Amino acid sequence: MRTPFQETSEPLFMTSGYAYESANEAEGRFTGASPGYQYSRYSNPTVTMFEERMAALEGAPVARATASGMAAVSSVFLSALRTGDHVVGAKAMFGACRYVIEEILPRFGIAHTLVDGSNLEEWSAAIKPNTKLLFLETPANPTLAIVDLRAVATIADKAGALLVVDNAFASPVLQRPMDFGAHVVVHSSTKYIDGQGRALGGVVLCKEDFLKDHLQPFLRNTGPSISPFNAWLHLKSLETLDLRMRAHCEGAAKIADFLASQKKIRRVIYPFRPDHPQNALARAQMSGGGGVVTFEVEGGKEAAFRLENALQLIDVSNNLGDAKSIITHPETTTHQKVNPAARLELGVTPGLLRLSVGLEDPDDLCDDLEQALKGD
Ligand SMILES: *Cc1c(COP(=O)(O)O)cnc(C)c1O
Repeated sequence: MRTPFQETSEPLFMTSGYAYESANEAEGRFTGASPGYQYSRYSNPTVTMFEERMAALEGAPVARATASGMAAVSSVFLSALRTGDHVVGAKAMFGACRYVIEEILPRFGIAHTLVDGSNLEEWSAAIKPNTKLLFLETPANPTLAIVDLRAVATIADKAGALLVVDNAFASPVLQRPMDFGAHVVVHSSTKYIDGQGRALGGVVLCKEDFLKDHLQPFLRNTGPSISPFNAWLHLKSLETLDLRMRAHCEGAAKIADFLASQKKIRRVIYPFRPDHPQNALARAQMSGGGGVVTFEVEGGKEAAFRLENALQLIDVSNNLGDAKSIITHPETTTHQKVNPAARLELGVTPGLLRLSVGLEDPDDLCDDLEQALKGD
């Protein structure tokens, strides 16, 4: 979209309202007879540009941007579900998504069953007559377990339920869940889409009928709208997403191999390494292994903390998908509030570390890890 100034870079429309030519024009906008914007809680030209490009990238009919990834996820749940419905979710999911399913939805009489996402029998067995929505993340955080999208989509279709996929870890560059039958895709654009750790954002991608019947009225009236400024940052970031994802994958693959050669590392998890238990499935549905490497150090929490504290280039933080490399100890941070038994069941052991590989020179990152491991 260009203004009459013919700018080459997309403009930022930092406005909450829009003036009309006349009272008649205002009436027409509100009846829908006259196209155009009314109020930025509903839509905004910069936000529209971001949404249209996200839809094109994901191969989705329509997209709506939200204030954060969690605004996207909770808007999908709350607009699609009602009292008496049942949700099936893969256990390995982002902590806040799990909180919404386990703590918030039950207050509205919406029940759930959590399953091991890579076990298709568990998905099938969990389906009830009132199952309306299946939710999963692949690769999952932080263990990078892969879920078979096509198989779970088939289970959802048979149940007449929606399959909602959180695609934040892969980004649309590496994986397009709708190509495998997913009905709705959600993103935290805070992660790889922004790619530089600057702004929160989220996106829902879906079909026209879900937008019209469920999502649109919910978003317009509850207001989890993205700031046009954040939408503009994420829109501009899409121009380099493909290049950045390729660099993240290349760096991560190199670091995964480096870590696997280290004596003090017990296990390395990376979807595109041949020793990942679902390597074939990962390669069938993703075009790259992603930017996250998860690994377990010998010596549990103490050794994990020692390694983190000795790093000089890699930051200790809990975000991911940044151009800067970030290391996280999931047990004591992102998964601290998950009960210990459930945590172990997810594979979040005391020695587990999640490394979001940034865009620095991979050799420098390996050197940093090497010096930190030596310091042990
Ligand atoms: C970060 C993240 C979210 C939540 O996104 P916010 O933008 O932080 O609200 C949801 N799912 C996954 C997989 C994430 O990594």
